[in-house]
Amino acid sequence: MSTTHHGGCHCGAVRYTVTLPELDKAYACNCSMCRRAGWLLAFVPATAFTLDQGADALAVYRFHNHVIEHLFCKHCGIKSFARGPGHDGEPWATVNLRCLDDFDTQGLAIELFDGASV
Ligand SMILES: [Zn+2]
Repeated sequence: MSTTHHGGCHCGAVRYTVTLPELDKAYACNCSMCRRAGWLLAFVPATAFTLDQGADALAVYRFHNHVIEHLFCKHCGIKSFARGPGHDGEPWATVNLRCLDDFDTQGLAIELFDGASV
């Protein structure tokens, strides 16, 4: 069963709504960006993600193959989500589960996402 969650950055400028499937694990990515930021990730189709406010507060950082938009709030610096094409070429969003208002990450298994090898 999927559930709808709200999340965003620290200062509140960036807010989004995301519909997640029932999760039993989160991904911890070992790429040079994510291991520094300490993200716990969930990947969703772009259709399950809505940016409610803050498009003008977002700055984009790109590296490696420059495909993924690593977005952060220009005011508070928090990286609450990213977006880009998935392996299937369709648009996906990557949500930082730690940035959701009402989501308990404690019970989740942590699985390695080997972003360093992508
Ligand atoms: Zn912010």
